[in-house]
Amino acid sequence: ALVVQHRMRSSRRWAKAMEIVREFEEKCATPVGKLRQVADAMVGEMHAGLASDGENKLKMLISYVENLPTGDETGLFYALDLGGTNFRVLRVQLGGKDKQIVGQEFAEVSIPRELMVGTADALFDYIASALAKFVASEGPDSQLPPGRQRELGFTFSFPVMQTSIASGTLVRWTKGFSIDGVVNQDVVVELSKAMKRQGLEMRVSALVNDTVGTLAGGRYDDKDVVAAVILGTGTNAAYVERAEAIPKWHGPPPRSGEMVINTEWGNFHSSHLPLTEYDAALDAESLNPGEQIFEKIIGGMYLGEIVRKVLYRMAEEADFFGNTVPPKLKQPFILRTSILSAMHHDTSPDLRVVGAKLSEVLEIPHTSLKVRKVVVELCNIVATRGARLSAAGIYGVLKNIGRDTPKYGENRRSVVAMDGGLYEHYTEFSKCMDNSLKELLGESSESVELVHANDGSGVGAALLAASHSQYLESDHF
Ligand code: BGC
Ligand code: MG
Repeated sequence: ALVVQHRMRSSRRWAKAMEIVREFEEKCATPVGKLRQVADAMVGEMHAGLASDGENKLKMLISYVENLPTGDETGLFYALDLGGTNFRVLRVQLGGKDKQIVGQEFAEVSIPRELMVGTADALFDYIASALAKFVASEGPDSQLPPGRQRELGFTFSFPVMQTSIASGTLVRWTKGFSIDGVVNQDVVVELSKAMKRQGLEMRVSALVNDTVGTLAGGRYDDKDVVAAVILGTGTNAAYVERAEAIPKWHGPPPRSGEMVINTEWGNFHSSHLPLTEYDAALDAESLNPGEQIFEKIIGGMYLGEIVRKVLYRMAEEADFFGNTVPPKLKQPFILRTSILSAMHHDTSPDLRVVGAKLSEVLEIPHTSLKVRKVVVELCNIVATRGARLSAAGIYGVLKNIGRDTPKYGENRRSVVAMDGGLYEHYTEFSKCMDNSLKELLGESSESVELVHANDGSGVGAALLAASHSQYLESDHF
């Protein structure tokens, strides 16, 4: 009798757990009609953001990049790429038309967590000292012509209200950064002061968002690149806009007739977004509640945390992992997206990888195949929602510039430069995004291509430093 009772209880628990999963799945659903609504709402917000700098969800920030790289850029330039969990310093030797990139070296440094929430000086000193070390270690082939200052493209992957190509103030921190006293300050001034403290003689010639850098790097390789999208720790898009379509731009009309816009789509929000109670909780507990809602359902920083929250509820309300809630499951952000990805891609019949991750990371030693399958299902639900919404965003950007349909009578290509860890390493995510974009574009999908611009943001920043160099007038232009 006891055995029967036990079985009944455990099947009731299982049913409860499955109910939680099904409900979550329903709330995350992204049928194509919903994706179209999201894309249309995004286009509406894009227009609002281009019209004025008011309280718009999409900031549509003006980058001051009016010309993208042509291939003619020459000389030695540096780049510093700060934004996610790592930052990189680069040195690029540009050889001009036929030679292109002649030499390139870089160093990557991880950012200690405490620096992300510490003081401005501590963060900028850390960066500047890594840059100084990089410069100190360079060889004789990195000599600049006498009397010439080193020039740097600074990729700063946060929303910045630019005041020129090489200056701008931070609008808000995102992605787990929260440092007092930097919002509304010029980040180039902060970096320059830190470089000075390090005794490093270097001038920032271009301040760019990572999406803008990726767009520049992408265009250097392929002249049909019209937009760039980052799917990494955070998410964002930049694209080339016609100057006439930017009512809020009151500066001199760009000679190219174009301006690169940093959409900051991570802050997109709409009643059409499929949000759940877990998303609401994640947002409320975050460093930036109410902000970056689109990013919080797409970005690599958050996907694992959403899955953790669902599993936690299943453990608590349905004893999914036994009678007690595994203590590790209570720890926010313990399920990093790389772990999610590893579990999601597990093709072994007994889901060995899933079992190993649950045991190593969450310290849940023994799990049945049945339980592991459910975990994979949760990964799939969360990744699918994020991937399909990213596709809707890309579709919205293309729609906004009339590139969601091929141009009549022309063989026009529209290329989107893609980068970010999620795009690069989470195959199920990028596959699903590709397919969803095709679904949205229909027949037009033949004229749209996504290309991986590997680490394009660093090289792109160096290219923009070159095309905005202080020495251009006196040189060959
Ligand atoms: C930032 C963007 C950035 C994106 C990708 C977001 O959190 O607001 O500026 O482009 O992450 O790195
Ligand atoms: Mg990056």
